[in-house]
Amino acid sequence: MKANQERHELFFVDGSLSLYTSPLAKGFDAVSVFVNDDASTHIVEELNKLGVKNIVLRSAGYNHVDYKRAKELGMRVARVPAYSPYAVAEHAVTLMLSLNRNIIRAHNRVMDLNFSLDGLTGFDMKDKTVGIIGTGKIGSVAAGILNGFGCRILAYDLYENEELKSRINVTYTSLETLCTESDIISLHCPLNEATKYLINESSIKWMKNNVMLINTSRGELVKTQDVIEALKNGKIGYFGMDVYEEEEQLFFSDHSEEILQDEVIARLLTFRNVLITGHQAFLTKEALENIAATTINNLNCFEEKKPCPTEL
Ligand code: NAD
Repeated sequence: MKANQERHELFFVDGSLSLYTSPLAKGFDAVSVFVNDDASTHIVEELNKLGVKNIVLRSAGYNHVDYKRAKELGMRVARVPAYSPYAVAEHAVTLMLSLNRNIIRAHNRVMDLNFSLDGLTGFDMKDKTVGIIGTGKIGSVAAGILNGFGCRILAYDLYENEELKSRINVTYTSLETLCTESDIISLHCPLNEATKYLINESSIKWMKNNVMLINTSRGELVKTQDVIEALKNGKIGYFGMDVYEEEEQLFFSDHSEEILQDEVIARLLTFRNVLITGHQAFLTKEALENIAATTINNLNCFEEKKPCPTEL
């Protein structure tokens, strides 16, 4: 609201975009979507039929939007490519440290007046090898933070980030070497055809025993069932996830009064060495302000029929 300064008429809808909610867009010029909204082909076509001309994403990732179809239909689509890489990178490191130092277990114990330290032993981050998959905006911030801890940083990306290499000591390597040598692996690449299920039975086989895996990027980068098998046999020693391949059915809403139907997440919840957050890595005050400002700017560009720097 603050970013809008009363320029555009904003109408907020409870629930996410789907075939059932899309009729609510009738009469509006633009629709603004988040990561839990479905803007796949048939919904984009439906919005177009209803007269919607623009789609403004409040996210960086756009795997949930068929922007190519939207463009074919003459619609303009823009996103928020960077709102706070710090928010997501810091959350990834939060998951690492919380898993390493058993923070959730320790807190629960203390709340029960149990001050025993049994089972709470962690490890020094210093001198551990951390593999960063995807060294774009978020991955390079994560690498910088971990460099501050004294970690050795390995990286895997399609392109080497020269600025990152000159700033800190990062070694680019193959995915196999990264998996083989890392104590902690953190995912920071986008979801696309090449990266879907990048972490699967085969890549897990390369990993060290007791490896820590952190996914704050997109759920489908990880074949969750294969991670569960690796958790069961101890190959994966810690798993931190902020994103989940079936998160559309679950995340961003309160299911506390329901019977959990998702067997995969139910199994994940049974592991003491799994830490789950519900896609909240982006959720800082600074990131929300930047998302709002860029989204309103995207609407301004579309309304004024100007080029938009964040258009897809
Ligand atoms: P970015 O585009 O700056 O960086 C992505 C990096 O991944 C690039 O360096 C790119 O070359 C690399 N990459 C692309 N394909 C690859 C492949 N096949 N193998 C290895 N590397 C590959 O993106 P970013 O801003 O750093 O965001 C990364 C991801 O984080 C986003 O795509 C999004 O899915 C996720 N994200 C999550 C949250 C959250 O709240 N959990 C918030 C924002 C972004």
